[in-house]
Amino acid sequence: MLDLAIVGGGPAGLTAGLYATRGGLKDVVMYEKGLPGGQITQSSEVENYPGVCEVVTGMELMECWPKQAMRFGLQHQMQEVKRIERNCDGTFTIKLADGSEQKAKAVIVCTGSVPKRAGFEGEDQFFGKGVSTCATCDGFFYKDKEVAVLGGGDTALEEALYLANIVSKVYLIHRRDKFRAAPATVERVMKNPKIELLLNASVKRVYGDERGMEGIIIEQEGKERDLKVPGIFVFVGMNVNNDVLKQEDGSFLCSVNHWGEVIVDLRMRTDIPGLFAAGDIRADASKQVVCAAGDGATAALSAISYIENIGELRPC
Ligand code: FAD
Ligand code: NAP
Repeated sequence: MLDLAIVGGGPAGLTAGLYATRGGLKDVVMYEKGLPGGQITQSSEVENYPGVCEVVTGMELMECWPKQAMRFGLQHQMQEVKRIERNCDGTFTIKLADGSEQKAKAVIVCTGSVPKRAGFEGEDQFFGKGVSTCATCDGFFYKDKEVAVLGGGDTALEEALYLANIVSKVYLIHRRDKFRAAPATVERVMKNPKIELLLNASVKRVYGDERGMEGIIIEQEGKERDLKVPGIFVFVGMNVNNDVLKQEDGSFLCSVNHWGEVIVDLRMRTDIPGLFAAGDIRADASKQVVCAAGDGATAALSAISYIENIGELRPC
């Protein structure tokens, strides 16, 4: 029986592992289906992690995290978790992709979430070289330049407003003439002189060279237009990695919100005792490395306190 199972080895999972083991838990395993580091390892430039003064790649930022986290006894298993189940004695069973199982007294879920891709030509080729899914991360690189935002939901409109504070102009491209975003947000966008709406429009392709993206070909009401902008921010929805919480009957192990994000309190506790969630998978996450790491530390401290206080396991 493990003291603690951590699912996911991004900034949240690694920090949870560091704090749990340094805080005295002995049998702690972090299940990560790939190499530890998480989605930030795809980023070519990170300049907002406190204490790291140079602009670094995501790989460089995360290089030391596994080594530091494992210094205090954290074990890493490169395994995909298929499902987390709760047992009648209050413990959890971790079901792994290779068919094996492991029991744990407590679990921290740190599986993150992934922005959806829109599917236009050049999107993958220029991802990180002009195509971005994170305005907080990359907006500053376009200070006083023109950029485009794709999408018509709350995220696209809120991020367009955020970007308008930094860049000289935002082209907001949306495939319909009605927005999904809240009316108050739509009104703020409409009133912002730095945002130009391109409605009933789609992105055909982005183009550029090996140095990065140079422009976007959009189609609007049957006509093509060339927007010479070096960046496009794609906000067309999120996939929350919550499959591990789905039970055999299709229900979720703990409460999730309308978008499938895990609902937690300020101590990262879900509504199931012993089950915690941290990082991008949780509701209201800021979706930043520093925030995910903070969540991981909080969740680990809560898990230590939970394990110290459970006493004898409840008989089935
Ligand atoms: P993740 O980093 O997503 O880690 C989740 C981990 O769980 C992954 O490694 C995944 O393989 C693993 N996993 C998922 N499911 C399973 C399973 N079933 N079994 C086992 N393992 C599983 N943030 C910033 O602060 N600054 C930036 O400049 C910045 N730039 C970004 C650029 C890009 C291109 C991207 C994509 C993100 C960027 N972010 C940035 C956001 C930041 O990466 C995330 O907020 C942060 O990584 C979230 O950490 P996490 O640990 O919650 O989740
Ligand atoms: P969303 O609401 O699903 O909106 C996605 C947008 O992208 C839609 O406008 C959609 O167009 C468009 N889109 C989807 N696929 C596309 C494609 N392939 N090409 C071009 N456009 C595409 O996603 P979200 O904005 O990330 O929001 C997710 C949820 O979080 C929402 O329910 C939202 O309300 C919520 N949220 C809330 C807040 C807040 O309350 N402050 C902030 C952010 C997010 P169509 O409209 O035509 O479908």
